[in-house]
Amino acid sequence: MTIHQIVRNTIDRLKAEGKTWTPDVYAEVFCAEAKKAGVAVEDCGGVERYLSLLDKKTAEEIKQYRVKTTAELVRFLISKMSRLNPSEASALVEMLSTLAKKMAQSIEMLHNAEASALAKKTLSVLDERGGTGQIDLLKQAWSNFLTIYDDTYLMKLADFGPVDTASLRRTVEGLNLHKNMPESLVEYSKIVSLLVASLVPSVAPKMDDATLKLSQKLKDSPSLIMSEEVEKELKTAIAMRIALDKHSVEEMVHALDRLLEKLSAQLIELIERSENSTTEIREVKRDLESLEANKPADFKTAHKRLYTIANALEEKVEVLSKDLKIHNDKVTQMGKKIATLEAELAQAQQASREDYLTKLFNKRAISEYLSVKEAEFARHGRVYSIAMLDLDHFKKINDTYGHEAGDAVLMAFAKILKEEIRSTDIVGRYGGEEFIAILDADLAGAKIFGEKIRAHVEQARFMYQDHRIEVTVSIGVADRSEFASEKLLFKGADARLYDAKHKGRNRVEPA
Ligand code: GH3
Ligand code: MG
Ligand code: MG
Repeated sequence: MTIHQIVRNTIDRLKAEGKTWTPDVYAEVFCAEAKKAGVAVEDCGGVERYLSLLDKKTAEEIKQYRVKTTAELVRFLISKMSRLNPSEASALVEMLSTLAKKMAQSIEMLHNAEASALAKKTLSVLDERGGTGQIDLLKQAWSNFLTIYDDTYLMKLADFGPVDTASLRRTVEGLNLHKNMPESLVEYSKIVSLLVASLVPSVAPKMDDATLKLSQKLKDSPSLIMSEEVEKELKTAIAMRIALDKHSVEEMVHALDRLLEKLSAQLIELIERSENSTTEIREVKRDLESLEANKPADFKTAHKRLYTIANALEEKVEVLSKDLKIHNDKVTQMGKKIATLEAELAQAQQASREDYLTKLFNKRAISEYLSVKEAEFARHGRVYSIAMLDLDHFKKINDTYGHEAGDAVLMAFAKILKEEIRSTDIVGRYGGEEFIAILDADLAGAKIFGEKIRAHVEQARFMYQDHRIEVTVSIGVADRSEFASEKLLFKGADARLYDAKHKGRNRVEPA
């Protein structure tokens, strides 16, 4: 059928139905006739054909409002456009641009060089309000980034812990770099570092070559400690370490000995020529002579005797001053040498882990042990406690019975500590007449320990020559979990010790 005929049919139908010939009514009837004739007329597609050109949301709206004709569609669109306030639109654009900037700033901070570079570029384009061309290029660059972004490298970390692709931070925090090392090897390497540390001589200046090599070998492959050959080497190294220390101490004692010999010869000569040979001076002379006869066996005794002689001399310095002046130079020289040797001795004591008088651990060893306890506390929350012990009125003991008696009391007290301490605890001399114990116990356990020591000391018989010396001790205890840091723990224990002194001594605080 031709278009002509369809038009004729349309007119006939309009006439027959008596409808007003408005364009809309005409179009409606024409399209119905065309459809009846099986002819597809493009204009008859109605609203439908525009829908595909519009965005989805608007298309939905059009369907909802039942917009049928093109005229209705035009009216609908005009009203929609007039509803869209232009200032609102530009505000929206402004907001979107700010949002995009914020996002770019955030991305710039992330740890990906490529993304950061792109974000930086995006920011500069947004800042300069770049044109659509520039924005389009950026869009393309971001698309490329998304397509080729590869984070499979993260999976390499899976050997060392759970990989959380959504949180790099959690992944890194959960890494266990020892994981691939067998548990036993981790343990070995801990033991090996302890062993190697213990092979370093405490007095001698350095290790021998064989020990040095052995240490390196063990550090490289910790599991070697299980081999018999290394066990033998270790025994040799330990013997060597002891021999080296012994040798150094012997050398120092000899040096002091020679010095002592010279000094006493000088002094005896001096006293001999002195006219005012008072009783005291004769005593000093006798002392020096006996020193000559029985050379001190060890460094400590030599040091102590020299100290006594120096003290006696000091008292009588007026008597000797005239002659001393003549010999002043020599004495000064020797004084200097003594000072050097004393410093060396102090250093040797520092380097060693044992207190020379009581044979308990010294301050350095205590600090080392404490750092182990601290690490255990930090890692596993394993609580420990400390006890600070200070002998009461100790100065009076020294003043009444002499320094040697004081030393004997210190040694006897150390013996009590050694007897009472458990194998999991350690005790050391912290200085003077102050001691410290580190206990594998909580506050209640530490109190029991303190009370045990206090009672033992109170009942013990401290004898020096024929004197019985009354000794008591005051103790402050503190539990690590009570304090925020190791430092505060020490402060706390110290304050409690002070408290015990103030409340009358011979007691444990907190009681
Ligand atoms: P308190 O009850 O308040 O503790 O009184 P104290 O006399 O014990 O107190 P203070 O701490 O004032 O005195 C400690 C004395 O210990 C001073 C010092 O002469 C003496 N002393 C320190 N180290 C040694 C040592 O190695 N041997 C000897 N014999 N005495 C020492
Ligand atoms: Mg004191
Ligand atoms: Mg004291």
